[in-house]
Amino acid sequence: MTATGNRDEPGNARARIVMALLAGLVGCDVDLEQPTPVEVPPSASGAHRPIVVVTIDTLRADHLGAYGYVRETSPNLDALAREAVLFDQAYSTAGTTLPAHVSLFTSLYPLQTGITSNGPAVAASGARVARLLQEELKMLGYDTGGFVSAAPVKARSGLDAAMDVWAEPARGVPQRPGSETTDLALAWLADRDGAPFYLWVHYFDPHSPHEAPEGYGELFASSDGLAEFQRDRGFPADRSPELTALNDAYDGEIRYADAELARLIDALRKGGWYEEATIIVASDHGEGLGQHGRLEHGRVYQEILRVPLIIKFPGRFELNGTRYADPVSLIDVVPTLVETLGLDVGSRFVTQFEGTNVFGSSARGRQLYAQRTFRSRPKAWGPGKKFVLFDGRWKLHDSTHVDNELYDLLVDPHELTNVIEEHPEVGDRMHTKLAELLGRFNEPGLRLNSGSDDIPDGFLDELRALGYIR
Ligand SMILES: [Zn+2]
Repeated sequence: MTATGNRDEPGNARARIVMALLAGLVGCDVDLEQPTPVEVPPSASGAHRPIVVVTIDTLRADHLGAYGYVRETSPNLDALAREAVLFDQAYSTAGTTLPAHVSLFTSLYPLQTGITSNGPAVAASGARVARLLQEELKMLGYDTGGFVSAAPVKARSGLDAAMDVWAEPARGVPQRPGSETTDLALAWLADRDGAPFYLWVHYFDPHSPHEAPEGYGELFASSDGLAEFQRDRGFPADRSPELTALNDAYDGEIRYADAELARLIDALRKGGWYEEATIIVASDHGEGLGQHGRLEHGRVYQEILRVPLIIKFPGRFELNGTRYADPVSLIDVVPTLVETLGLDVGSRFVTQFEGTNVFGSSARGRQLYAQRTFRSRPKAWGPGKKFVLFDGRWKLHDSTHVDNELYDLLVDPHELTNVIEEHPEVGDRMHTKLAELLGRFNEPGLRLNSGSDDIPDGFLDELRALGYIR
């Protein structure tokens, strides 16, 4: 385990921002007011209120029991969902690991953060305006720990900012099994001394290459029940054995990750934290598995963007145990936590939010945004740019390199029939709105990007091993 120490002492925050302004690194007015570090009050039971984020990489919502899947891939996640708020229509902001995670932790879209692929990195805290959730919690007195499983979110990404303890696969090792990450997280939990804590655990097992871990390969080695599921999603009637085998292995990987989630939840229960903890389980994106002609991720169809999102709030929060039907985005998670938990974060952090508290009135009837992965140097990640705007019904794909597409998700939830010719007025209206958003998102004020596309030696090899570069 690598202990990084606390590199984000609250007392230095104002000095850092002043330095950033003097250095011309920020391009907009900045509120210099910073939160005073405070003790998070103990709950009635005497326990503090931990916040635990679990991201299970590459996890499609529709392959989970809680979201109606035909196979029992997720008994432990399903059990947690029954005690939590389950978001039926939760969407990522991009089909790639790092941009989606940065959106989750900042409440900003990828064009706003400047992190649009796995290549860039979040700049050092003194060289940017926008902040990550863990940086705010650190200033509120939380102990912070990050335990990740794969290359795109290693410390070079900048996501280790303000983490007291950080653990990742060794240099040159692109990913590791969830059991190793859980072991390290549990050891850190065992050392907690009563201070409130923020824990992020990242699992990577459902990511390609799709090979179920030992003991999980045979669990789903048949196509039982899958025919209707795949037919609904546009697979040809003579589904290839290769695609079915890929699906079986993917489901085995999910079941394995679900067992690791169970170990984590069990430790929270045994440590006496579960009841008062806020536990968020989400994914950064899904996986193609053959839909729309693609096996992996990066694009913006539903099988990529629709992710699980489950939030168990503390204690007897009245909405635990309910389902939330309207579309929400990963950028809504932090604003929802801040308002629902009453976190005394800085006013500047709140004003950076692009997302909203999903329990507030402003969450209704919104249009949400996401985008395809791209880099400023396009050759590494394929051609062109593609943006999507969507609500509970319509979804516009706006592309720089192929014809635009429009889908009516109410009647075509898997995006099989492009209806842009039938509904030109809807496409035009959404295109105009999207153009407005892109203009605003391209303003540089909140960027976290370190400004360099230079990729360190060895990192390209790790990305290549994970299938990002061919
Ligand atoms: Zn990912």
